Amino acid sequence: MQNETENNPYYSRTDKEKLNVSNDEWRKILSPDLYAIAREAATERPFTGKYNEFDELGEYYCAVCGNHLFRSNSKFSSSCGWPSFFEADKSGVSYNRDSSHGMERIEVVCKRCNSHLGHVFNDGPPPTGTRYCMNSVSLEFVPDSEK
Ligand code: FE
Repeated sequence: MQNETENNPYYSRTDKEKLNVSNDEWRKILSPDLYAIAREAATERPFTGKYNEFDELGEYYCAVCGNHLFRSNSKFSSSCGWPSFFEADKSGVSYNRDSSHGMERIEVVCKRCNSHLGHVFNDGPPPTGTRYCMNSVSLEFVPDSEK
């Protein structure tokens, strides 16, 4: 989204260097919705995200920093209410144990900016059996036609 990135000096689709930016700084740059999810691990309401029912061909990047996260051919139609992928860009994401809200889950964060993206579960489809359950707000889609 252009309006999310134009005032963001840290946004880059090519720079892989890790970012160490304080939440005070991110709060000045990001929209309130993106800040709440990316920096405070909030969750968007199910079935409301712009990429939940969406199957265009292209690439998904971190909405906070521009790091590449997913390719559209790993996206699948899930009934969970959030955009779901069976495979992530290994250089794009990392994982944290998350014991919040009385559940044991694995949090997925952007490897470059450490922003919260969603969670990963082991009930996905073949070939991986993995389900990356993401917040649409955390993602920025770029169609192949814009490459
Ligand atoms: Fe990021």
